[in-house]
Amino acid sequence: VRARLVVIGGGFGGATAARFLKRAMPSASVTLIEPNADYYACPFSNLVIAGMRDLSKQRFGYDALKAEGIDIVPDAAVDVDPVARTVSVKSGDTLPYDKLVLSPGIDFRWGAIEGYDKAAADLMPHAWKAGPQTVLLRKQLEAMEDGGLVVISVPPAPFRCPPGPYERASLIAHYLKTHKPKSRLLILDAQDKFSKQPLFEQAWSDLYPDVIERYGANEFGRVVSVAPASGILSTEFEDIRADVANVIPPQQAGAIAHKAGVADMTGWCPIDPLSFSSTLQPDIHVIGDATIASPMPKSAFSANLQAKLCALQITAILSGQAPEPTTLTNTCYSYLSDDTAVSITGVYTNADGTLQSVPGSGGLSPLMAEDIIRHNEALQARTWFHTITGQTFG
Ligand code: FAD
Repeated sequence: VRARLVVIGGGFGGATAARFLKRAMPSASVTLIEPNADYYACPFSNLVIAGMRDLSKQRFGYDALKAEGIDIVPDAAVDVDPVARTVSVKSGDTLPYDKLVLSPGIDFRWGAIEGYDKAAADLMPHAWKAGPQTVLLRKQLEAMEDGGLVVISVPPAPFRCPPGPYERASLIAHYLKTHKPKSRLLILDAQDKFSKQPLFEQAWSDLYPDVIERYGANEFGRVVSVAPASGILSTEFEDIRADVANVIPPQQAGAIAHKAGVADMTGWCPIDPLSFSSTLQPDIHVIGDATIASPMPKSAFSANLQAKLCALQITAILSGQAPEPTTLTNTCYSYLSDDTAVSITGVYTNADGTLQSVPGSGGLSPLMAEDIIRHNEALQARTWFHTITGQTFG
């Protein structure tokens, strides 16, 4: 019998899963459901916001997947019936599956910050899904007078790309320093500690000492409400008027994960890390940002690797074999300026049924480093972007 494999979401996780399923099982029917013809990659989108890169370099499509025999359904999945094993799409069609892979990414918890709803994002962009929001934030920064105040509001963990807000702050600070030197950037943070903190803080004091200021949750930095029309962000104790406000809202798994019954009370999807199968529904696997896969971060690197592992294990399961334990890894690069970057690497094992960091593995860029090391990491980041988008979209 020809296996029917359906993937929801054509981002870093889903597009990779579709390709690796098709390669592993050429005779299977592989269908990718994705409503958008163009995918805009988030990695490197902070460079676009800071005016160092064109948005067109972030755009990818599905022609290579089609050429490999993957059926693309240009529609949104609106429901999943885990008992009948079917997916319904917006147009009204129903697609049957033997195995379903969900990689819908994140949705925002609108209203979790009082006043921050979908309409507010037109005035105070999140730019946490790349595309028009990236352009909007860029335009606001360009339009701001020299001497203005930019505010970035960071949500509580877990959220997509843990070092992302701080890379963004670094790159916006670089733009301000070089184009609008009287301007300031304030980070209002719902976290106390953050990814690569010593590296970022060192770079901020070296490169942007008069530009960036940050208040963590322990310093009452958490934003509790906003008034988008007047540019006000409020913490528990203070109202701050921003000239440009970038509100990165609290997050959860994409809506279809909730519809499919694979998300739990946390808003995210518990998985068995051996194959990324849902622990809540049979024959459904979840990968990427939507999962609970800590200590793996919610990154494109993780989503891509989880997709490959998931495809391999679905192939094994369908041929009657049990999934084998393995190790996984992740590297996240963050730019500090237009041509310097740092990185963090983790190595994980799923051997005992949970994901664990392998003791003594992984690591961070050195704190004391010659410029050449930071430059080299910026070059490595570019190679990484080229490789991962090539693997994902062709
Ligand atoms: P996504 O890539 O978001 O893909 C989800 C897809 O599912 C989308 O195409 C969406 O249209 C589709 N979808 C959703 N719902 C449905 C539905 N109902 N029906 C059909 N399709 C649906 N990661 C790194 O590794 N390195 C970096 O340097 C990095 N930098 C980042 C910088 C920023 C500013 C941000 C915001 C993120 C960054 N990331 C980075 C994180 C990375 O973008 C995400 O972790 C990654 O995109 C997750 O992949 P995913 O497949 O889970 O979700």
